[in-house]
Amino acid sequence: MDNNSLQRNTYQYYGAIHIHTKYSDGTGDIYEISKAAKKAGLDWIIITDHNNFECEEGIFNDIYVIRGEEISPHGGDHYLALGINNQIEPNKDVQININKVREQGGFGFAAHPDESQCRKNKHIPLLWKNKEIIPDGLEIWNWFSNWGDNLNDRNIFQLAYSFLFKNKIITSPRNELLSWWDELNLHSQNIVPAIGGVDAHALKFRYFIIPVTVFPYKTCFKTITNVISTESPLSSDFETAKKQILTSIKQGKNTIVNRNICNEVPQINISNGKNSATCGEAISLTDNTYLNILTNKQIGYKIINDGKEYSQAKTNGCEIPIKNTGKYRIEFSYAGRNFAYTNPIFVTQGES
Ligand SMILES: [Zn+2]
Ligand SMILES: [Zn+2]
Repeated sequence: MDNNSLQRNTYQYYGAIHIHTKYSDGTGDIYEISKAAKKAGLDWIIITDHNNFECEEGIFNDIYVIRGEEISPHGGDHYLALGINNQIEPNKDVQININKVREQGGFGFAAHPDESQCRKNKHIPLLWKNKEIIPDGLEIWNWFSNWGDNLNDRNIFQLAYSFLFKNKIITSPRNELLSWWDELNLHSQNIVPAIGGVDAHALKFRYFIIPVTVFPYKTCFKTITNVISTESPLSSDFETAKKQILTSIKQGKNTIVNRNICNEVPQINISNGKNSATCGEAISLTDNTYLNILTNKQIGYKIINDGKEYSQAKTNGCEIPIKNTGKYRIEFSYAGRNFAYTNPIFVTQGES
């Protein structure tokens, strides 16, 4: 790349968010889960048991294990609460849950807000019911819930296919949800961040007395991954590292990548001749503003500026002139499937 890219030194760490343990409807303990995370090439994970805060946190098997909670009122409006210190009892009034998280200095993401209402199976979708209630951020991609949306149990063959080729039936986040995310960003002075969740449970069943784990943690951890960038390496002190990880997520300094589709993390930044900004950051517009994409593979990109398509093409790495202010996010595709979503970069008018 040329000088315009103004690369800064940042560090990248892979993590999985939205995991259930034996303390709610998952099956694993923290030793088993951290071991699976290690094998899947992760650096950190965030546990979010339903209405439970008993799981330990700390460094296990070299993995930073952070505890959050999935505040789960009956029938939907699940909220992934991060950065809290005490368990929060679910309230049917979702705004109360959001406020309680903020009161503890935490922040949260609407979990699987758009489960499909036209599923080909009998499982009832758990939605974010009232879109007038604005969460701090959105879980735009949820592996388990996406699988559940596409699980077809109309006959035994389709059912078997759904279980045997789990990753093949995973689809992109729905356009309505991405539009809601863009809408929230359009009306906010800040960046409204998004995450991808695995919603890992490692459910165990017995088929003819043979115990079978249907969604092993390791399998889930190799799919939807949040790659965060930090200014300095993660500390070996757990509390410091936890703060680094949570701050990155809160600011939207993560790219969501389904590694099962393509194991590539495209790098992006916007430079204006003086500074450069990456996901979750702001930069002012000059006559010399470019969006830079760095990738090791030929991939497709689609740039979205304030909810509208700005440009799209295939690339091995390129720079695209930026002429408008507003928020820019990018969707990447490989072999016809979308596999990565960046958080926005905010291009502002005036000095920065
Ligand atoms: Zn949930
Ligand atoms: Zn969940």
